[in-house]
Amino acid sequence: MSEINTSKVSRWDQHGREHVVRVRRAGSRRTIRCETCGWCQGAQFLPWLKAEEHLAQAHQATVDPAGA
Ligand SMILES: [Zn+2]
Repeated sequence: MSEINTSKVSRWDQHGREHVVRVRRAGSRRTIRCETCGWCQGAQFLPWLKAEEHLAQAHQATVDPAGA
């Protein structure tokens, strides 16, 4: 039930390590936080896109484990 307000984006890097960015909703704002490096940012729009961008740029993690 609490999962409704929390979401995550996970990507693998070329070494097969998983990196996870969590997206939390707090009222009308969303906050995204990287579990690998602690990077944290508010994102009002498209938090998942920002999360993917961070994972790609900071961790070279671009592989979607879901297979897309
Ligand atoms: Zn990070």
